[in-house]
Amino acid sequence: MNLASILLAAVSRDPHRPALKLGDRTVSYAELDDASARCAGYLRKHGVAPGDRVALMLPNVPEFAVLYYGILRAGAVVVPMNPLLKPREVDYYLEDSGAKGILAWHTTEQAAVDRADGLSVAVTPDGLTDLLAAYEPVTGLVERDGDETAVILYTSGTTGQPKGAELTHDNLCRNVEVSNATLLGLGGGDVMFGALPLFHSFGQTIALNCAVAAGATLTLLPRFDAAQALEILVRDRATVFAGVPTMYAALLAAAGDDQPDLSALRTCVSGGAALPVELLRRFEEKFGCVILEGYGLSETSPVASFNHPDRPRKPGSIGTPIDGVEMDVRTADGAPAATDEVGEIVIRGHNVMKGYWRRPEATAEAIVDGWFRTGDLGARDADGYYRIVDRTKDLVIRGGFNVYPREVEEVLYEHPAVAEAAVLGMPYPTLGEEVVAVVALRPGADADPAELREYVKGQLAAYKYPRQVWIVPALPKGPTGKILKRSITVPPPAAG
Ligand code: AMP
Repeated sequence: MNLASILLAAVSRDPHRPALKLGDRTVSYAELDDASARCAGYLRKHGVAPGDRVALMLPNVPEFAVLYYGILRAGAVVVPMNPLLKPREVDYYLEDSGAKGILAWHTTEQAAVDRADGLSVAVTPDGLTDLLAAYEPVTGLVERDGDETAVILYTSGTTGQPKGAELTHDNLCRNVEVSNATLLGLGGGDVMFGALPLFHSFGQTIALNCAVAAGATLTLLPRFDAAQALEILVRDRATVFAGVPTMYAALLAAAGDDQPDLSALRTCVSGGAALPVELLRRFEEKFGCVILEGYGLSETSPVASFNHPDRPRKPGSIGTPIDGVEMDVRTADGAPAATDEVGEIVIRGHNVMKGYWRRPEATAEAIVDGWFRTGDLGARDADGYYRIVDRTKDLVIRGGFNVYPREVEEVLYEHPAVAEAAVLGMPYPTLGEEVVAVVALRPGADADPAELREYVKGQLAAYKYPRQVWIVPALPKGPTGKILKRSITVPPPAAG
């Protein structure tokens, strides 16, 4: 068992098919196979043994895939890192993972740091080809047990220190297999648009590994830009797109009144954050393509549930658990919640990580009796569909009443002037917390805070509407495009 076996299978089926595309550059499956085999040879010659960790810090370029599968072929563990990290953050990841070396894209700050204590390569496209040409390819794979670690993913960790989720070969192979078989239905003729960062779980499993396992073509965009994304979708006649909600919103805004030809696009998937129903509706209406919303976390490889293509879809829900995975909802005292009762979502199955790297206490807190505690609040309806209400920490308690920000955001997104919205709880003397909204408007749209406040007030219970609305140019986002609520800074609401 080795995750890289998906590449070997694709090569044996059709070596000439394009595996990767960036601009007008194409890498075939045979070329990806040869380069990754040489990379394994290079690593081996430099003392990387099976089980060693190797950090990979690249944007979405073909070299990401070459090195990713090269590390796996050598039997080593990939530690993907965001190329935007600063050296201080990189040092934390390297030290925490005990990485034997780092392969970093030449433009990253890290590439300039020459590490005396391990392997350090500044990767350029030509430089990598020249470097690898000097090494013998390692034919085949270093076998690993299914429960050995393939990838350590540092989770976005908006609070506390980032922790490394250890995903095994089994975790990832099964998640790819089930996602391909039951959600994406990818085949060799498909073109997947890879705009999600490959260092993050969503892009890695759904874009890279699912495409490679199917022998499909992955067309890459190093940094998401909606206008460029539309051009690529049209130019490469992409058939499948996986994105986060902010990408769907940006694509709609970039298209404006134009009607780009996305007729080849047959499946869109959304995850990583709640997809507002109004956004789903607008996107589907404009582009004539169904969006399937799913849910998962770095710790669950990541896919846990989906609105499956062959079952009735429930917009606003995260669908039903994928094959081989169970989900449940637990009340505050750990008991199973009733139908429609809100509690913490827990997950059990082949997708749940082995644990947090070198953190037994954190692992024991997160995985209880085999159930992984997600920290997300949600409920299951009578048909077995789950919906996320919010993250546990994101709940606003206003004067003893629970306000779920998601619900308020949904209403704000329905306002025609609103492009992005985040609802927060701010400390407030008499109520404990007050509800505050921070909003970015659509280009050219006009609305003032009072109008938006009244708009929500008209549609939700009185304790839920935001007493203050701040209009900002854009909301802060993480590497996947997810809105980082905890990075939003607005003045506290005035008492009165
Ligand atoms: P990450 O580990 O970076 O993939 O983040 C996982 C978190 O993203 C989950 O714990 C959820 O809070 C959030 N998330 C993922 N998918 C969804 C979704 N469809 N709806 C709402 N939140 C989501």
